[in-house]
Amino acid sequence: MARRLIEGARVVTMNAAREVLEADVLVEKGGISRIGRDLAPALPDLAPAERLDARGLTMIPGLVQTHIHLCQTLFRGLADDLSLIDWLRTRIWPFEGALSHETLRVSADLGLAELARGGTTTILDMGTVHHTDAVGEAVVHSGLRAWIGKAMMDEGDGVPPSLAETAEDSIRESLALAARWDGAAEGRIRYAFCPRFAFSCSRRLLGEVGEILSSGPWLLHTHANETVWEVEESARRWGTTNVGYLDGARLTGRRAVFAHGVHLADEERALLARTDTCVTHCPSSNLKLASGIADVPALWEAGVRVGLGADGAPANNSLDGFREMRLAALLAKPRRGPTAVPAERALALATIDGARVLGIEKETGSIEEGKAADLVLLDLGGPEHGAGGPAAARLGANVHSRIVYAASRDDVRYVFAAGELLVDRGRLLRYGREELGRRAGEALADIEKRL
Ligand SMILES: [Zn+2]
Repeated sequence: MARRLIEGARVVTMNAAREVLEADVLVEKGGISRIGRDLAPALPDLAPAERLDARGLTMIPGLVQTHIHLCQTLFRGLADDLSLIDWLRTRIWPFEGALSHETLRVSADLGLAELARGGTTTILDMGTVHHTDAVGEAVVHSGLRAWIGKAMMDEGDGVPPSLAETAEDSIRESLALAARWDGAAEGRIRYAFCPRFAFSCSRRLLGEVGEILSSGPWLLHTHANETVWEVEESARRWGTTNVGYLDGARLTGRRAVFAHGVHLADEERALLARTDTCVTHCPSSNLKLASGIADVPALWEAGVRVGLGADGAPANNSLDGFREMRLAALLAKPRRGPTAVPAERALALATIDGARVLGIEKETGSIEEGKAADLVLLDLGGPEHGAGGPAAARLGANVHSRIVYAASRDDVRYVFAAGELLVDRGRLLRYGREELGRRAGEALADIEKRL
């Protein structure tokens, strides 16, 4: 594991005091060992290859996305302009059912390459029903930090036979995957139990997952309250709220992450807060599938931890954490006023708050000594960023605003995850662009044949 001194960047720490420093950052053994000015003279044995001149660049923590589907990356652009239920039943489930181990690996490689290139270093992923080992293998190769988990679904209308499974098989396979992958790749990979959503699982399956979770270190990841349909169906089927139903199966709690939370009653928000259950805000996906807009400030006011995620590629159609930050800030303003989600808070959603959702805020999510070296260097000097310099600072220019409102993933120059360099001057080191493109085309042709 290489040592590296990253010199002279403007460091947007996202620590508790939200300090922005002009400093060097020393990376050793995968972690941040020192932050300070002019560290090179104290390191006389430093080789030239261990130094990275980052003057003029801005360093932020690697982005954390707490809801992704790597299994859907090949389906981008093939499921557009549909409502969630049609999107699932007519496009996504049949596509997922046609995946093989090999094509799922390509899908995950594509997604991980895009995420790394765009400055995301940690994800919580929900897989498909089968072939989850392919996702684990892809994460090992990527260098990213990830929770993976197979989607669990033993019930539901419109599920193709290729995705059907019994509760028993679902539990058995999940436990085997958790044993194989939780803690793999020096702890970069962890396991999440992923019942797809309440309506694709039997009560028995949900109850057994709740039971298992009470005795293990894993996360629980599911979709909840994404659409009005779910709200109405839970009242009709179970005579309770969706969150109440999940709570009844013991699927709430501090290690539970619910994606979306768009349509929540006050009592559900209170229940999420009381049980310390987290929500992942997926603004692009919620807009594209016409699901609605999650009231993130209301979740904060209730005391709920919130993270940010791009969801699957065909629901977005991008895995760009910068777009999600910008949208999270903008969408809250018409309803809640201009200060509801300020730029700094939006950046927190995509970094330290995401780490809190995953329970790894002591490991990553901010740039501090002792934390993992999950770091992104941005070049904010392009014409699209306007003027820099002392006058801009005197007139109130703010780096958080520049990152959230004006920056894009195209500004990413270097990415480190666990101290390993994954993106060098904008170029992915672990993936070849041509090769990825060729494999993606071949994989889709294979899926077409199996449909
Ligand atoms: Zn999703």
